[in-house]
Amino acid sequence: MTDRVASTPLTTEHPDRPEEACGVFGVYAPGEDVARLIYFGLHALQHRGQESAGIAVADGHTLTVVKNLGLVPQVFKESDLATLQGHLGIGHTRYSTTGASSRWENAQPMLSSIGPNTIALAHNGNLVNTLELRQQLKGAGFRFRSTTDSEVIASLVDHFTQLHNSIRGGIRETMRLITGAYSVVLMTEEALYAFRDPHGVRPLVLGMTQNGGWVVASETCALDIVGARYVRDVVPGEMIKIGPNGLESEQAVPEDRHALCIFEFVYFARPDSVLNDCSLYEARMRMGEAMARTAPVEADLVIGVPDTGGPAAVGFANASGIPYAEGLVKNRYVGRTFISPTQSLRQQGIRLKLNPLKHVIAGKRLVVVDDSIVRGNTTRQLVALLKDAGATEVHMRITSPPVKWPCFYGIDTDTQEQLIASDHTVEEIREHIGADSLAYLSVEDMVAATGREADEYCLACFTGEYPIDIPESVKRGKFRLEAPVA
Ligand code: SF4
Repeated sequence: MTDRVASTPLTTEHPDRPEEACGVFGVYAPGEDVARLIYFGLHALQHRGQESAGIAVADGHTLTVVKNLGLVPQVFKESDLATLQGHLGIGHTRYSTTGASSRWENAQPMLSSIGPNTIALAHNGNLVNTLELRQQLKGAGFRFRSTTDSEVIASLVDHFTQLHNSIRGGIRETMRLITGAYSVVLMTEEALYAFRDPHGVRPLVLGMTQNGGWVVASETCALDIVGARYVRDVVPGEMIKIGPNGLESEQAVPEDRHALCIFEFVYFARPDSVLNDCSLYEARMRMGEAMARTAPVEADLVIGVPDTGGPAAVGFANASGIPYAEGLVKNRYVGRTFISPTQSLRQQGIRLKLNPLKHVIAGKRLVVVDDSIVRGNTTRQLVALLKDAGATEVHMRITSPPVKWPCFYGIDTDTQEQLIASDHTVEEIREHIGADSLAYLSVEDMVAATGREADEYCLACFTGEYPIDIPESVKRGKFRLEAPVA
């Protein structure tokens, strides 16, 4: 087993929007360059986590991992990929929701030993009973190296694997104890495992490479980049093992009420991914069309806020007849920089990330389509930026309902107090951001755009109805004492 640090920790900033959780990727493909497949898979999943990245590969005998803080191309060099030799492996891109972000120990894949064997694990999601489980495990003599819920999963798998003398038994028993959102890939020196929580909060898909190898990934865009074809979703509550005997599947825990995160459709997942048989690009276009129907406005141009606002802006333009134009260009590689800007540069705020096309928007009444407003500060800066660039009116159209409740299932939406819609009306928010008008998409129209029913989704950050119970200890300090505004 090799466990290597590549460079020093870097710093991050905390943008004003929901933060993605993580991306996971797994491959079992004898005869293929597995490390390279994972490397490119992680590139496609970079949007789901930019704080750390890691790859673990095994050849049947030895398991090697390279991981560090940073973006995928910052963490891996050609020489790293050359050392990662084997026919199976897993990879991870991380944004932390539990555990300090800028610690190497919290980067994944996470390694642990079961007797003479090693497992590596990568997790997308967030457990809601981590505190309880950590206390129980500490009482039973477990020692933890990191502060993540993923290490709790790894510790439980270790413990029960030794008890049952079977990894599948260990995972099965672990899935019965852990509560919350988890899409996990796990490997030993010989086999790849994947399992998903019984509600299916975070996505997890199965694909096949052109040479018959298996791939598991958070999103279909990560299958596309390695030329794999989509086979099916990993079913909520399912555990898959892929090894020398091929693919074996079992329903490790019964499926519960499905609760796929609707924010995957609004913002997190890439537009070229397909979720629940629905193209994300088309779902976002339909969200924009619905906005044009429910909140029409007289204007000269429709622009989208890159990247997620683009398809919805096209939908708004198509449905309203108002021309669509590119009005903002993203400073693509600054978005989540790991080099802290100086104080004077930081004051530039949104200008570091977005540059308005002045000659396009000057003198125009704009419809500006964005995916969400969380704390409100970025939207206020955006409106000011567009007006400074000469826009005569700015009409914000948001393709999700007001975010009023915090997320406990793997998305960092902070405490309720920091959510502007939790104690401000739409008119108060409009005034705060300085827009000429503001409208949000309804829960019904957002769900309808995905082609499914509301009871298949988690909608908790909009409705406050949590599909998985949150323990009191986890809720503490996260909610306002008084109810959010209607
Ligand atoms: S609370 Fe919101 S962000 Fe969290 S899983 Fe549910 S829908 Fe997604």
